[in-house]
Amino acid sequence: MVFVQIIVLAGGVGGARFLRGVRAVAGGSQVTAVVNTGDDVTMHGLRICPDLDTVVYTLGGGIDEERGWGRSGESWTVKEELAAYGAEPTWFGLGDRDLATHLVRTRMLDAGYPLSQVTAALADRWQPGVTVLPMSDQRVETHVVVTDPDTGRQQAIHFQEWWVRHRAELEPSAFVQVGADTATPAPGVAEALAAADAVLFAPSNPVVSIGTILGVPGMRDALLAAPGRIVGISPIIGGEVVRGMADRCLPVLGIDVSAEGVGRHYGARSTGGLLDAWLVAPDDRAEIPGADVRKVPLLMSSPETTAALARAALEAAGV
Ligand code: GDP
Ligand code: CA
Repeated sequence: MVFVQIIVLAGGVGGARFLRGVRAVAGGSQVTAVVNTGDDVTMHGLRICPDLDTVVYTLGGGIDEERGWGRSGESWTVKEELAAYGAEPTWFGLGDRDLATHLVRTRMLDAGYPLSQVTAALADRWQPGVTVLPMSDQRVETHVVVTDPDTGRQQAIHFQEWWVRHRAELEPSAFVQVGADTATPAPGVAEALAAADAVLFAPSNPVVSIGTILGVPGMRDALLAAPGRIVGISPIIGGEVVRGMADRCLPVLGIDVSAEGVGRHYGARSTGGLLDAWLVAPDDRAEIPGADVRKVPLLMSSPETTAALARAALEAAGV
């Protein structure tokens, strides 16, 4: 592979692991990650960007590998002390080491730096080996419309509250990207796409990770302006999510929990959608009219399998 520009749309854990594979096979190529910020939330006065941190910690070697998120060697003293004060929310795990990241980020945001510059400053420590961009500098926060079990009334709660506090048990009836209507892609996103030889959709949640990125006004047009091919990787294997809650999200949008369902949701570029190619697991079948569907082992269970998946994705992109 000669020097090329590779763009990866990514959520948290699935995105970060896939990016590790892309970095491993990219050689001297330039890799840019465009990361979901719809999960971002302010708690205890601190700005928390879960997917950006998962990507930067994972690529920078600071991640807790077992949990998949947060810092390795973490301790929870501050969380315990906050709970002793009864300081809400008590259901969100803020680790001591992780806290330093949120302190630096919040201080920079308060000083007026945009999230993209703050992210670059944090990445300066971790040296992730890829350029990490938030999807947008504007605040876009995913909310989940649920029925309050006590009052029977519909209400929108923050995605983190639905996922972390309620463990996705409250039946969702809609996902709403609050702030998306006035958001724009972060500086560097459209520029990177305009020079992209390959655009890869990581096997991230199609609704609350990739879907949120695609919901930023201007993002779809910027993607379609990329000179390279767009290749998606299914996060669904054999009708199951590997981890996470995509199986709770997809039905809300009427999408079948299958590789074919997600592929058809993104759609083939030639039929008004986005994909040139769609990678599904060897035992799955998917017909996406107009897209090149390829069967590839999709489990990112080791550095080798993850690198092979990234290699297959780049091959499907023709680079
Ligand atoms: P989150 O933000 O931490 O929820 O992570 P992402 O949105 O990036 O990724 C979540 C998705 O990754 C889930 O829908 C999983 O099905 C998918 N996923 C996790 N591990 C794997 C894997 O090894 N292979 C594939 N194909 N998908 C995976
Ligand atoms: Ca996420």
